[in-house]
Amino acid sequence: MSFLIDSWKQQHQSADKLNKQLLRRLKLRTPKNLGEIAGELHEEIFTELDCLDCANCCKSIPPLLNETDIRRLAKTLGLKVSAFHERYVRIDEDGDRVIASTPCPFLDADNKCLVYESRPKACRQYPHTDRAQFAENLKLHHLNTKVCPAVYHILQRLQNVYD
Ligand code: SF4
Ligand code: SF4
Repeated sequence: MSFLIDSWKQQHQSADKLNKQLLRRLKLRTPKNLGEIAGELHEEIFTELDCLDCANCCKSIPPLLNETDIRRLAKTLGLKVSAFHERYVRIDEDGDRVIASTPCPFLDADNKCLVYESRPKACRQYPHTDRAQFAENLKLHHLNTKVCPAVYHILQRLQNVYD
């Protein structure tokens, strides 16, 4: 188990207030280089942390599904779109289509994704911390510090940059 995952488990709750404050400051006055710095930290963290040691997103957040995702996944599984809907899709409280259950039915025992090549766009983009997406998702990052060790550690390192 990665040190970064262990330290996230032990520390993310006590760091919650500071993370919230940092994100509020970044929202009020977004530094011009935020995307660049966050992108570098994203790369850095994901060289230190292996998602196969974690899979917490796949275990706890049902990914959004768009029309293309549904068609692609149905095709991969050899199902009609209607059968895929029946078996794997539900409508969430915001009216969005999501995978019907957590942990995700496509997560195997080794934390590998059984439909990796066909996985939904939301899975490909998670945790939204790379260069282009970071500043657009500040509110989401706070929620994700509770789910994703990578987001937590990116924010910890951002504290050092912007404090
Ligand atoms: S929660 Fe974050 S660190 Fe864990 S598997 Fe998902 S993206 Fe990787
Ligand atoms: S489709 Fe794959 S990557 Fe997406 S939540 Fe399920 S197991 Fe994880």
